Amino acid sequence: MAKMKKRADPRKIKREEHKQKLSKLQERVDNFGEDEADKEVSKFEELPLSEATIEGLKNSHYVTCTDVQKRAIPPALQGHDLLGAARTGSGKTLAFLVPVLECLFRNKWSDVDGLGALVISPTRELAVQIFQVLRKIGRCHSFSAGLVIGGKDVAMEADRLAKLNILICTPGRLLQHMDQTSGFDLSNVKMLVLDEADRILDMGFKKTMDAILENLPVDRQTLLFSATQTKSVSDLARLSLADPKYISANPDTTSSTPKNLEQNYVCVELQDKLDTLWGFLRTHTKFKIIVFFSSSKQVRYVYETFRTLQPGIPLLHLHGKQKQGARMDVVSKFSKASSSCLFATDIVARGIDFPAVHWVVQVDCPEDAATYIHRVGRSARFGKSGKALLFLTPTEEPAMIQRLEAKHIPINKLTIRPNKKKSIKNQLQALCFKSPEIKYLGQKAFISYYKSIFIQKDKEIFQFEKIPSEAFAESLGLPGAPQIKLGKSAEKMKEEANAKKNQSRALQKLMRAGDDGVVSDDEKEVRTKMDRMFERKNQNVLSDHYLNMVKGDADEDEETGDFMTVKRQDHNLESDDDEDVANLPTSKRAAKQALSKKQSLKNKGLGTKTLFDDEGAPHALYEFDDEEDFKAAGPVESQVKEFVDRETKDMEEADVGDKELVKQKRAEKKRKRKEIERLRELDEYDEESEEEGDSEEEQAAKKPKWFQRDESSDEEEDDGVLEVEEPTTLEDLESLTSKLLKK
Ligand code: ADP
Ligand code: MG
Repeated sequence: MAKMKKRADPRKIKREEHKQKLSKLQERVDNFGEDEADKEVSKFEELPLSEATIEGLKNSHYVTCTDVQKRAIPPALQGHDLLGAARTGSGKTLAFLVPVLECLFRNKWSDVDGLGALVISPTRELAVQIFQVLRKIGRCHSFSAGLVIGGKDVAMEADRLAKLNILICTPGRLLQHMDQTSGFDLSNVKMLVLDEADRILDMGFKKTMDAILENLPVDRQTLLFSATQTKSVSDLARLSLADPKYISANPDTTSSTPKNLEQNYVCVELQDKLDTLWGFLRTHTKFKIIVFFSSSKQVRYVYETFRTLQPGIPLLHLHGKQKQGARMDVVSKFSKASSSCLFATDIVARGIDFPAVHWVVQVDCPEDAATYIHRVGRSARFGKSGKALLFLTPTEEPAMIQRLEAKHIPINKLTIRPNKKKSIKNQLQALCFKSPEIKYLGQKAFISYYKSIFIQKDKEIFQFEKIPSEAFAESLGLPGAPQIKLGKSAEKMKEEANAKKNQSRALQKLMRAGDDGVVSDDEKEVRTKMDRMFERKNQNVLSDHYLNMVKGDADEDEETGDFMTVKRQDHNLESDDDEDVANLPTSKRAAKQALSKKQSLKNKGLGTKTLFDDEGAPHALYEFDDEEDFKAAGPVESQVKEFVDRETKDMEEADVGDKELVKQKRAEKKRKRKEIERLRELDEYDEESEEEGDSEEEQAAKKPKWFQRDESSDEEEDDGVLEVEEPTTLEDLESLTSKLLKK
């Protein structure tokens, strides 16, 4: 017996050992930095980390700490709040993920403890990337980690949420779960990390973040990381940071751009930008290049036209209006490519770690120096070298260069060799003439560009009035500048925006107007003009989708655009063929409804059952019953009750079956629709992808108001023209004045 007992002991001993190890580790953490030798630490294994973390790092080939990791990890382990600023590509991700793992480990976190650490990223792509790094270095731990980003099924995510210990997410989706998912509890969170913190704290995410922060425990630890760190007092107050430590790891220079990044700019007229870009790509076909534009419309136009003209380098494009699957695909393709050109919006401006990007080209001027720093930071990462090229129009040049100089960004002016110049204007014109889709994209790109300039904060750089509209339209291959009458509506919008303290809606409107050329009242004229033009011309060659849009009767659930009116309000939703009905013009629909069994039953009232005697005369059912038998069966009330109960039960059973059937039919329909969509995508015309944002918007319409706002901010982010609200509020001015952390 005694022996048996002893045998059970090893587990206890193990537990005891583990406990001792933990307290030893804690001791090492607490005392770290007291020894002089600790300052010389250069390897992860010399830091007071758990074996599992060290093992995970080693297996992922991380051995030596980078500067920011060396400086940030120890104080983070000791529980301090951090403000970490280090150049792009200097290894900030590990600087916060290691403390996340260690914090939970030393708190003996397990499944039952729920969510312990929350990492927030401004974009989906960056969240995915952080998650991948976490999976690599955390593999020897037993925590469960999850990724919660938009573009996926909320319900599916919701199922897993309750079990997660570490969550990587985008602000919008996190808030959505806080709102909708029962059992999702933030009250236990020990650590909050904001990657690209200044971006998350700026106006675009303000409402969302405030709602999130409200639900987090105050005694949590908070880590903020970015290459362009916020110092705004109100930002820090919002986060209730407790005596934060500033970690700055840009030791050899005050600039936040990598040392081995060669930075250049050229001065180009707006109308010559595409020629210049074309010339650049033709002479750089063996490189890996990212080209930034200010809006998704421009990305699409340039992508569609350039791929037809074939510059001789594989082209890819990435923007927020694509479906999530397509976005992921592009990211992985571009990551693997050795030579490729990616046209993108600011959606990938921050944090994304594409390996070995040779060139970052900015065709449209970044909205501020911070955005510039992040964009060029996609190249020359982690000690590699890279080059950057910025296009500035003569009006943008003086002010923008000033802004960059103020941040100590070393940038050289280049001129393009005249013999390398080649105009593609004629080809673009021919393309627009031949293809109404291209022309349509061109018009949208034109409008979007105007909007993007209009909503910029820095009016010294972005001078809306000075856009050479005719020449610009011509350079896009358009026969004339689309008449958007922005002058007038711009004034109006400005007034509106100034009047409203909360601008996100105005901006949302503005953005949508930019996206579809539709929406607000004073913009209506724009739309009708374009619409009329398109209705008149080439109607049969336009894509079905476009025609649907014009008619306003696109039918699919997930694809309903925001410019469509509610067209299903009188649908019989139980009917499994409601979508077919939606497609029919009113008269046919009315006809179909009139023939519908369900409808006619509705009007008929209750049925009666009649039996016929031998002579063929009708009788009510009871007339055939024997009165004695009836009486014998019990009192009337109980018979009635029995009958009703029986029928109810039957009905309920039938109902379950029916619902199942309807569900199956719907699923089948959805599958077919997806199939068609995929075919269309294969057809290489991805007008559908436009609707991605819209479907979210449609969902948002069903959500509480405060949530809708958030969607708007997501959308803005997707369009890459965020951080653009007019600087009318205190926060705005503050974020404008927030400076780089200097040594
Ligand atoms: P940042 O967030 O500062 O822009 P990342 O965390 O994305 O930088 O890291 C940039 C690159 O450096 C990544 O490819 C990453 O794998 C690599 N890296 C980071 N830390 C280390 C390290 N200690 N040893 C080797 N490579 C590292
Ligand atoms: Mg990063």
